[in-house]
Amino acid sequence: MAAAEEKKRVFVKTYGCQMNVYDSERMTDALAADGYVPTQKVEEADLVLLNTCHIREKAAEKVYSELGRIRVMKEEAARAGRQVMVGVTGCVAQAEGAEIARRAPVVDLVVGPQSYQHLPRLLKDVAAGRRAIETEFAIAEKFDALPAATKAQTRARGVTAFLTIQEGCDKFCTFCVVPYTRGAEVSRPAGAIIEEARRLADAGVRELTLLGQNVNAWHGDGTDGRSWGLGELLYRLAEVPGLDRLRYTTSHPRDMDEALIAAHGDLPALMPYLHLPVQSGADRILAAMNRKHGADDYLRLTDRIRAARPDIALSSDFIVGFPGESDAEFEATMRLIETVGYAAAYSFKYSPRPGTPAALRDDMVEEAVMSERLQRLQALVAAQQTAFNRLAVGRVVDVLFEKPGRMAGQIMGRTPYLQAVAVEAGTERIGTIGRVAIDGLGTNSLFGTLAGAQPRPEALTAGNATAAETAP
Ligand code: SAM
Ligand code: SF4
Repeated sequence: MAAAEEKKRVFVKTYGCQMNVYDSERMTDALAADGYVPTQKVEEADLVLLNTCHIREKAAEKVYSELGRIRVMKEEAARAGRQVMVGVTGCVAQAEGAEIARRAPVVDLVVGPQSYQHLPRLLKDVAAGRRAIETEFAIAEKFDALPAATKAQTRARGVTAFLTIQEGCDKFCTFCVVPYTRGAEVSRPAGAIIEEARRLADAGVRELTLLGQNVNAWHGDGTDGRSWGLGELLYRLAEVPGLDRLRYTTSHPRDMDEALIAAHGDLPALMPYLHLPVQSGADRILAAMNRKHGADDYLRLTDRIRAARPDIALSSDFIVGFPGESDAEFEATMRLIETVGYAAAYSFKYSPRPGTPAALRDDMVEEAVMSERLQRLQALVAAQQTAFNRLAVGRVVDVLFEKPGRMAGQIMGRTPYLQAVAVEAGTERIGTIGRVAIDGLGTNSLFGTLAGAQPRPEALTAGNATAAETAP
């Protein structure tokens, strides 16, 4: 048999958040050590992994419909004499465990997010005809046990990278499954994070996004023997040669401490874009959600952050139709959005999750009411987003060029404010930061022209996008 035919192929489909994207990469790295090469074509895979999300009901249901399609493919492969192994990983695996294999017998392997380091051993069990289910919360650090990506693997992934620094959550918002699927808050040690960041920068990564379900709760013993929070960690990461841009997500308002806010003012590498979910603008709903802050606390916090970094662009998550949400409480959320002025936001209808306190309530909001609220909220956010993007038109901004564009002769990059920009330029610029004069506004991206040695780029101030300007 030719060498190419002997290779085992793994197809990984990632659902949900960026932490799953990072985990999928680490699993692919672990499997590479076991002889697996990644493939984008599910039909040629020997191993199919669905790295799943359980955050809302729809996200979990998508997994079961995908498993239906994979069953047909697996049966066809078996008729042709080829064994295909199917695994479910991520939060659905953690939440449902053996139930997945009962509901979808096509599944050979169920592995929760804390057990990925055991994948190679579990696959041996499956190859020997045993179904493998592992959903333990391993206390040992999964990241220490997973092999690091090679320089070539990192290069192939591009000039931006994710790095998970914190997992799990102790906040127990009453709507959320994360504390149950990802477990208690655990911070990775500072030394391991800095070493991984250096390795990524050495392989050509220019922009690093630190990840955690509650990333700004990260804390640990610093390399100087003192106790650090995320602020201190960012100061150290800003010193890593080659890392021009730093970001972090997702933050809880209660964990934005002084050092972190100061870092936004002090560190040019820390990009002026912050995802700071508030969920609702009504105090009674925030209390029922167990968010542990009120709407005014959040507004004061955004003022302090803007005082440190006036051009910072803010984004948020919103849930509409949390049980018991009245019309007036929804209007309070709309007012908060108008006051803050967001550059972007994600919004969702409340989805009851089994095992969470809010799912037991008997005052669910009607579906039609939720739909109407979601539509209005999204229209307001879309108008704010357009107004914010319009601020860039006619100005010069720094763009990190990341990948070829969809049109020939075009490359794509991002501004410090996370806006996608399409520019006519050669692919040799990928991995560099260039000045771009923004001359157009599309639906999903800005358009620009290389601006050569233009003067310093100008800051976009989200506060400019006032409610009056953005009213739909
Ligand atoms: N840790 C982050 C925080 O504190 O906001 C967010 C984590 S969660 C993965 C991402 C978003 O999903 C949440 O901010 C929330 O808006 C949404 N979400 C979580 N549970 C939900 C539910 N049961 N129904 C609707 N949306 C939900
Ligand atoms: Fe879920 Fe975020 Fe609340 Fe934690 S802080 S319970 S992850 S919404």
